[in-house]
Amino acid sequence: MKVTLIRPNIGRREHSLYVDEGRMEPLMLGILAGLTPPDIEVVMHDDRMEIIPYDDPTDLVAITVETYTARRSYEISREYRKRGVPVILGGMHPTLLPDEASLNADAIMISDAEMCWSEVLDDARQGRLKSVYRSHPACPPQFNRLPDRTIYNGKRYLPLTLIQFGRGCTFGCSYCAVSAYFEQTHWSRPVREVVREIEAQDRKLLFFVDDNLIADIPRAKELFRELIPLGIRWVSQASLDMTTDRELLDLMVKSGCLGHVIGFESLNTQNLIEVNKSPNMAWANDSYKEQIGILRDRGLQTWAAFTLGYDHDTVESIEATTEFAIANKFCFAAFNILMPYPHTRFYAELARQNRLLYDGRWWLHPEYRLNYAAFQPALLTPDELTEACFRARSRFNSIPSLVSRALDFKTNMRNLLRFGIYMTYTPLFRKETFKKQGMRFGYR
Ligand code: SF4
Repeated sequence: MKVTLIRPNIGRREHSLYVDEGRMEPLMLGILAGLTPPDIEVVMHDDRMEIIPYDDPTDLVAITVETYTARRSYEISREYRKRGVPVILGGMHPTLLPDEASLNADAIMISDAEMCWSEVLDDARQGRLKSVYRSHPACPPQFNRLPDRTIYNGKRYLPLTLIQFGRGCTFGCSYCAVSAYFEQTHWSRPVREVVREIEAQDRKLLFFVDDNLIADIPRAKELFRELIPLGIRWVSQASLDMTTDRELLDLMVKSGCLGHVIGFESLNTQNLIEVNKSPNMAWANDSYKEQIGILRDRGLQTWAAFTLGYDHDTVESIEATTEFAIANKFCFAAFNILMPYPHTRFYAELARQNRLLYDGRWWLHPEYRLNYAAFQPALLTPDELTEACFRARSRFNSIPSLVSRALDFKTNMRNLLRFGIYMTYTPLFRKETFKKQGMRFGYR
């Protein structure tokens, strides 16, 4: 038996296919490959950089689906099903919208795929795939099996190893798909299993892809203590409340942390209150001055994430947010339009107020383009929001901004390693930011 795993692309640019030069290894597919018995052949195709060979013989296709890749995933599914190959879809989007996903595949996996993967394979072997496999969001139980990273060979991913300590987040931001998926719960793996996984791979630079690495602070400290002897360097995603715990920060730095992706989201407290972004609320009025100072004093680099389009946002407030990001010399900043993800409270509220655009299904709509507003903002038109976000990206990523942010001896120029990371990844992310703007979803 042969199983084909697929990581779909988002879509295409107007006149060409989009190749994601900042692509990272699709960890979930490596985990599934690791959980597949050795008598089953596994291949993986990454639609972000290669043409999918639909005519290669295979017995089952499994596609990991996010909301942004749903349209493309359904196209890929159609191609295989036309050839008589059964397709199963898994991931966050099929879990949040199982009815929609079911219409586009032979079977779907609801919730974390590890729990039902062996049952899926058994059923596929016997040619009696069920239409739905259901498990519960939980700590990835890898059953003592490491991800099979050989499936990444030859695909020229960024040279850093993705790893996961935990999943989910206990905060309840109303727009967050993670919060909707995990219902404000958080799970983490045994620390010894994570250490074993790190020791089994060669790289010294790792990315913990947790939704919030410090969601459970005592467990995060336990992890950091065990990372210290490994001599690795790592980055992750974490909430700003990490700045309130000195011991946590000290352990982080000692264990090799270089910095984090941090969701600042907004400088306006009222915006944060209205979307229940509780980890940030106390500090927005003061422009996060103390928290940023704490991170900088420890030399931690910051990849800042902002969401724009809240009910109190204006063209001027978006410009002020851009100034703030440049002035604080963030390594990188993402200026994301606030998106109504399906099944979130934010989506439901906009639907109730009749403010959703693109028939409420922007992820499938043929006219929707990446980084376009998908709802009617309160104080801007959708076009004004789209344009203000693009201006923020353009300004933050201008050459003068890139140079001025590099010249920061506390973070980006602290030492050769930090400067190397800044100079390797920041121009790359800058390039990808412009390449992706306005991209269509799907290839057709
Ligand atoms: S803190 Fe981040 S991961 Fe947690 S619910 Fe809010 S947006 Fe989601």
